Amino acid sequence: MATIAITCMHNYQGGYSRISDGYIKAIEQAGGGPIVLPPALSPSAGVKLLSLADGLLLTGGNDLSPFLYGREPHPQLGDGAVRRDEQEPLLIKEALRLGLPILGVCRGMQIINVTLGGTIIQHINQEGPEAIQHRQNSPGWRRHHHVDIKSGTRLAGILGSGAIGVNSHHHQAVEKLAPGLEVSAYAPDGTIEAVESASPWITGVQWHPEMMFEHYPEFLKIFQAFVAACAGQK
Ligand code: MN
Repeated sequence: MATIAITCMHNYQGGYSRISDGYIKAIEQAGGGPIVLPPALSPSAGVKLLSLADGLLLTGGNDLSPFLYGREPHPQLGDGAVRRDEQEPLLIKEALRLGLPILGVCRGMQIINVTLGGTIIQHINQEGPEAIQHRQNSPGWRRHHHVDIKSGTRLAGILGSGAIGVNSHHHQAVEKLAPGLEVSAYAPDGTIEAVESASPWITGVQWHPEMMFEHYPEFLKIFQAFVAACAGQK
């Protein structure tokens, strides 16, 4: 069974971590064994523990610090996650060094992009005729807007190419794409909704498949493809 190291949300003031059940259930149903690396761990311990795993899953959460990519804070920047901002780039670099597949969900996709040298839109434009809503008020698992999956990408192999409805719970997005990454899906307003790299194995999605797969089973396929890639490591 492929062991999957998973990062999680952190409340710095409260001094606790939490992770949505969806990630744990999705990895388990895909045949993997999830282990969580809480942000309270020292960064060096997290990096050491990653060597026990076959893959790295970076989960959703708070906004990235713009310091990570050399910008000043936008007035609408939301709550941050200082321990994760420190932990996750180290885990990504170690996973790359070890040759482990990486899956990023929402914030997870964004921090992959930043760690590899890309930048982030701190506050998606909500004005103008092209704007669409990326923070849905409907139930979290529901399809909210479309994305267009580019043919020939890994994601197209997993979900099929063309339009598919996804949920949306973000107000940041990838701006400049990092070297080595390719866009595999866009929203109708031009927002980058998925990225990937063939080698090393990297897939990032801006939506939340772990919230959707119990209602729309096709979204489990993302986790199945990831776990299969991780299982191939040994
Ligand atoms: Mn969206």
